[in-house]
Amino acid sequence: MLVTYDGIVVGRREIGENSCFLDILTDEQGIIEATAHGAKKLNSSLHGSAGLFSYATFCLSKNRERYTVNSAKPKRSFHELGSDIEKLALGSYFAQAVKFCTPQEQAQDSLVRFFAIALYEAETAQTSARLSCVRSAFELRFSCMLGYRPDLRGCCNCGGFEHEDMFFLPDSGEIFCGDCFDRSYGGRYYVLTPEILSAMRNIVYAQLNRAFRFPLSDSGAALLEKITENYFLTRTERTFTALEYFKGIRQPVIIDKK
Ligand SMILES: [Zn+2]
Repeated sequence: MLVTYDGIVVGRREIGENSCFLDILTDEQGIIEATAHGAKKLNSSLHGSAGLFSYATFCLSKNRERYTVNSAKPKRSFHELGSDIEKLALGSYFAQAVKFCTPQEQAQDSLVRFFAIALYEAETAQTSARLSCVRSAFELRFSCMLGYRPDLRGCCNCGGFEHEDMFFLPDSGEIFCGDCFDRSYGGRYYVLTPEILSAMRNIVYAQLNRAFRFPLSDSGAALLEKITENYFLTRTERTFTALEYFKGIRQPVIIDKK
């Protein structure tokens, strides 16, 4: 049986000298593992589409439960990611996260598009703080897609939309305004400045193509990164080796003093 899916390569394992297994992220079937025969040969028609982060239309033949790549038509390659070690590490973390969290053989809504946007935003990020924002947007928006959407519409007690300090409770995904928050609360919480709350609202509620686009100071980006990492890792109940690597190599964000 032949099937055609748009997908992005999120994992690749070598088999012998010339071939490889590809993990292809698709909307229709989640993650598909497919064999790409001869893909490592330079003259193979699959060569360009079998690389990590290659976005292509894959024509696959399915025999019993196994997929083989017949042909692939490249749509976009995020090869610029490979020229910057921080960006490559971040892309690898995104790939590990979707591989772990996406069920096999189950339809996903807009996941390929989301992943492509995340790679594009990482690839084109100009500063370390901007890369932090891309990472935060990925973690928080992906949490929403997995069913863990925080309620950031307003204070969960009085409904207040804005306050100098808003308090975010990551365990329940709720926010309280400064008037309603019980300061003796013993659980985990973060104090959100208006710009951080505004960035988080953008990530959660904006259309997918705008979810990564928001203004944020460098200090805001550094704090947002802590919040979204905590939120995402707590929800997925694990850590990722690629994330540890990314954090280990990255340049510290220089905090602007305003
Ligand atoms: Zn309130």
